[in-house]
Amino acid sequence: MTIETTSRPIDFYQIDELISEGDREVRDRVRAFCDDEVIPIIGGYWERAEFPFELIPKLAELGLAGGTIQGYGCPGLSSVANGIVSMELSRGDGSFETFLGVTSGLAMGTIFYCGSEEQKQRWLPSMAKLETIGAFGLTEPNVGSDASHIQTTARRSGDGWLLNGEKKWIGNATFADVIVIWARNQETNQINGFLVEKGSPGFDAQVIGGKISKRALINAHITMTDVLVPESNRLQKANSFKDTANVLKNTRYGVAWEAAGHAMAAFEIAREYAMQREQFGRPLARFQLIQEKLVHMLGDVTTMQLMCLRLSQLRDAGTMTEGQASLAKQHCCARARHVVALGREILGGNGILLEYHMARHFADMEAVYTYEGTNEINTMVVGREVTGQAAFV
Ligand SMILES: Cc1cc2nc3c(=O)[nH]c(=O)nc-3n(C[C@H](O)[C@H](O)[C@H](O)COP(=O)(O)OP(=O)(O)OC[C@H]3O[C@@H](n4cnc5c(N)ncnc54)[C@H](O)[C@@H]3O)c2cc1C
Repeated sequence: MTIETTSRPIDFYQIDELISEGDREVRDRVRAFCDDEVIPIIGGYWERAEFPFELIPKLAELGLAGGTIQGYGCPGLSSVANGIVSMELSRGDGSFETFLGVTSGLAMGTIFYCGSEEQKQRWLPSMAKLETIGAFGLTEPNVGSDASHIQTTARRSGDGWLLNGEKKWIGNATFADVIVIWARNQETNQINGFLVEKGSPGFDAQVIGGKISKRALINAHITMTDVLVPESNRLQKANSFKDTANVLKNTRYGVAWEAAGHAMAAFEIAREYAMQREQFGRPLARFQLIQEKLVHMLGDVTTMQLMCLRLSQLRDAGTMTEGQASLAKQHCCARARHVVALGREILGGNGILLEYHMARHFADMEAVYTYEGTNEINTMVVGREVTGQAAFV
């Protein structure tokens, strides 16, 4: 039994009519790319835990890297279009989406928000063409959610800085040309950002093996021993953790869209399967209990699409708050995790086979649920905004 995964993308409330023609055009390009280039091959890469590097030039041709950044050769997409890109890529494959999310949203975003004009001019144009790939190193082996207490240090040395410490989970870091490293400035005790270039002596990045989620994404454990970074590579406007948090606020909204993409894929695959697979002499789709699952999934998918759309409109209007971004990340990830579980259930045993695509979305959603602020951390960010009381420091 072969399930057609590219048919009828779900848009139950005709959200299509709420987005501009230009944004729809971006959406169609990304959707076609995923349907034609990514989905047919990604299962093997996921299983072998390899990244499909040969797709990078084709992705570059789509002109998506840099997202909403204006100028510097970046596409200057609306936040709606940029979110839809995340949704469509995740609907195709989560590992591939995160590859772009890391270099475009996190690394380019950090350079855009925290870099000097000179630093932006130097890095962003080639990153927009995906000729230069970026990574973003915040999380450490001993410091995850409590990110403002990272232990990596930056000590002044002559005209530069010596970085020492470790980073864990850093996407793209084994092959990236430039890695944003967040470290504690030993003079001010504040968090600063540094651009570490590929091949810097003392910098080592090892692939993290044995993952059960986002297997085609390369994550690295980084060790830095007296890595010398010139002052010209210290991000001139990254002066405290507030600057880090601002970057994360601006990528978290995209992660909410990612969750929507995984949920869409799960719904579409499950619906096709239920209509084709027969048990007890009739298609699964004719059983009330199966329809109930599909309807629960559809309700969640539709809510996510609407929530993400509105969040992006708020971002485009320049009014999106940290709490609004965190609520969408927290809510969409929690619901999408439920949706992919129901989808896997509908496929029975085939739900754990890569060839039916559901298993990949089911497993990948676990990472999306955890990164860019876990469910608990984003919940507390929202809680702080609505009560004025911080449940964490
Ligand atoms: C696939 C993948 C890719 C990633 N890519 C990157 C990357 O490119 N760059 C990067 O810097 N990081 C990256 N990360 C790291 C990611 O952001 C962290 O995993 C995440 O922030 C959680 O940190 P942790 O795993 O150390 O969990 P911990 O912080 O140890 O948390 C463990 C559990 O405790 C809970 N918890 C923690 N504090 C509290 C509290 N105060 N109250 C209640 N519960 C709490 C958490 O919610 C979680 O459920 C990636 C992670 C994954 C899995």
